[in-house]
Amino acid sequence: MDFTNDYRMLIDGKLEAAGAAFEVRNPANGAVIGRAPQATSADLDRAVAAARRAFPAWAAMPIAERKARLKELGDAVFANAEGLGRLLTAEQGKPAQEAAIEVMGSGYWLQAYIALNPPVTVNEDTDERFSETRHVPLGVVGAIAPWNYPLFVAMNKLPPALLTGNTVVLKPSPFTPLTTLKFGELAAQILPPGVLNIVSGGDELGPWMTSHPGFDKISFTGSTHTGRRVMASAAQTLKRVTLELGGNDAAVVLPDVDVEKVAEQVFWSAFLNNGQVCTAAKRVYVHQDIYDRFRDAFVAYARTVRIGDGAAEGTQLGPINNAPQYRRVLELIRDAKDQGYRIALGGEPHAGPGYFVPVTIIDNPPEHSRIVQEEQFGPVLPLLRYSSLDEVVARVNATEFGLAGSVWGKDADAAEALARRFNSGTVWINERQVLSPFAAFGGMKQSGIGVEGGLEGLLEYTSAQTIMRSRKPVA
Ligand code: NAD
Repeated sequence: MDFTNDYRMLIDGKLEAAGAAFEVRNPANGAVIGRAPQATSADLDRAVAAARRAFPAWAAMPIAERKARLKELGDAVFANAEGLGRLLTAEQGKPAQEAAIEVMGSGYWLQAYIALNPPVTVNEDTDERFSETRHVPLGVVGAIAPWNYPLFVAMNKLPPALLTGNTVVLKPSPFTPLTTLKFGELAAQILPPGVLNIVSGGDELGPWMTSHPGFDKISFTGSTHTGRRVMASAAQTLKRVTLELGGNDAAVVLPDVDVEKVAEQVFWSAFLNNGQVCTAAKRVYVHQDIYDRFRDAFVAYARTVRIGDGAAEGTQLGPINNAPQYRRVLELIRDAKDQGYRIALGGEPHAGPGYFVPVTIIDNPPEHSRIVQEEQFGPVLPLLRYSSLDEVVARVNATEFGLAGSVWGKDADAAEALARRFNSGTVWINERQVLSPFAAFGGMKQSGIGVEGGLEGLLEYTSAQTIMRSRKPVA
């Protein structure tokens, strides 16, 4: 398979170009790496119609057969991991080893769901009646993905949707459509026509999907700002929604830690994928007794990290993915400077092509500062000094977000007691950003609605249906 050109949509089992196409650029150097089809609303209508036509037979298929297709899809991803990974680095910017992890994780996720089954609950089994509740598919799911983990985020949606018997129309971000379109080429050989459709396009395509009456559910991952729009638009036909949104995750470092080791761990918790991770540590609270030592160790480690083109050997951090995000990160850095906050490292953008921003560490800015209050989604991080647990818990939770967070401390029980006080969907203790297809993941507050992963995530693609059967003679 050629991963370097010929990017086509998947509609009703056929790979299609559109009337128009848009350029996709490599964020490391600005070079055009491909042209993606620009779907029209008529293209979307055809994709939805194909998904609707495919739904009854797919839903009626024994679950074991649907699982067999997911297994095949996973195998196809593994078999094409090199080409998919290289393309992912070219369009997203992430280092090659990170792209490989994303691709292999996507294959693993496709196959892991095979272990899950929607349960059937017997509610009553008496002389009077037999009553049971089962979980039936919703119909056609619209899946909308962001640009930070284009393939992996999509693979959080497809397996539970397809396994439970739904059909899907998937839309990648216009900044990173190419890897997903190539995945569609693999899927075209494995899934019946219409079961999975992939459409690419510009800013108008997402709103067309959320307002389209042919969808029964929208599964959206992206910013909280867009999530609000998705929910408002989906409400017109009462589509189900799963919203995986933004975060402003806090990491809290307790005073008993091994400072050097934990500084390195927390660094990657914040800067993996250049900070463009929904669950990146976006504010790091360090106990006052170790604050200065921790900051110095953190900065010393950060100086060793290599930034460059993700395709180059040894690169640990690539560029920011796109121009709007690049401008936003620079604006937050400029604000920190204008306000006179101390910059412990970085601050000046690199000259030359590519959206490169140096690792930038802001030393104990005020709690009300923009860099503390807003989701930066880039390689700039505030380190903050705290003195008591009650104080830090109040600061951690004083946000509209509630996605995730982490606690770092030698006494794991004390760390867990603190973790339980976070108002967020996931809290890691002494580890960073571990995800599992078998664990529910989702945001509290304005970080989302619903979850992905685990049985809870699977059931979000179903409706509960209760059948009650009388055992009394009919009068
Ligand atoms: P975004 O909200 O700008 O875009 C996400 C997707 O929605 C893209 O495909 C985009 O084309 C589409 N879209 C844009 N406007 C739309 C509209 N009005 N209706 C429907 N779709 C629309 O987000 P982004 O910049 O691509 O991604 C970064 C954000 O995603 C961050 O806030 C990050 O925290 C969040 N995120 C969350 C998770 C999670 O699991 N909670 C995971 C990854 C990223």
